Amino acid sequence: MIASATPSIGTSPILAVENVHAGYGDVTVLRGVTLEVGPEEVIAVLGANGAGKTTLLRAIAGILTPNQGEIRIFGESTRGVAAHELTRRGIGHVPSGRELFPELSVEDNIMLGALSASRDRRQALRRRVLSLFPAVADLLSRPAGRLSGGEQQMVAIGRALMTDPRILLLDEPSTGLAPKVVSMLFESLGWLIREEGLTVLLVEQNAKLALTIADRAYVLEQGRCDLSGRAADIAGDPRVIAAYLGYGRIVLAGGAGIEPVAEGPPGFEPGTDGL
Ligand code: ATP
Repeated sequence: MIASATPSIGTSPILAVENVHAGYGDVTVLRGVTLEVGPEEVIAVLGANGAGKTTLLRAIAGILTPNQGEIRIFGESTRGVAAHELTRRGIGHVPSGRELFPELSVEDNIMLGALSASRDRRQALRRRVLSLFPAVADLLSRPAGRLSGGEQQMVAIGRALMTDPRILLLDEPSTGLAPKVVSMLFESLGWLIREEGLTVLLVEQNAKLALTIADRAYVLEQGRCDLSGRAADIAGDPRVIAAYLGYGRIVLAGGAGIEPVAEGPPGFEPGTDGL
């Protein structure tokens, strides 16, 4: 069953977004977003183009100040806290478009994530990033601007991991990447989630992909997240299928993958029940 309100996560959330309104100047984008992310949860936020997914992550990361509502990290309000201080408190942000420094080397881009860490800590974090993305080890001296999209995405995630985040905000990591590269990237993320219990808030237009990796999901529509629930339930919701998943139904098998089937669930008529 799909909950219409935020499902209880049964423990203190790492991140709580409460009735947040935010936008740009006179343009209101978020109109009362409420969501929670518990320890070691992977939460997906789905939504159409322009729904406000990036805006939501920017507000959580402290790049954008909400006009109304509250964002709490480990129970403490982030109001008035600078983005770099939120990074220190455990928010790692991989922005859409990656935002690397194109002239700087891959090594410098990655190490920028850990400027304030001790030398030993920096080296330990660097080893972790290179073991997660071995391909990056061969690119360290190359300017980041000369990498492929997939390589840049690995560097952007690596830079965020260098901050040793308690929660990783991932903004459309699959955008513009070939399916093979996306699979590789999500395998690495899956490993981090399984082996290290990384907590993730994932924004994705590729709903199928997001729902294979997520525990729970929220659907952002008209500036609010009124539809939310377990990823498997969201994946089976006719409205979500119609709006985001196409005609195939996906079956989640213990998070192991997706299995497209030819027709939708009983009673479902494609294209008649949009969100
Ligand atoms: P997409 O999936 O296409 O990336 P999104 O869900 O991430 O979309 P946002 O990027 O958050 O959506 O944008 C939400 C709305 O805010 C859009 O209508 C967009 O045009 C508008 N917007 C985004 N950035 C700005 C800005 N800097 N100034 C004014 N409006 C903006």
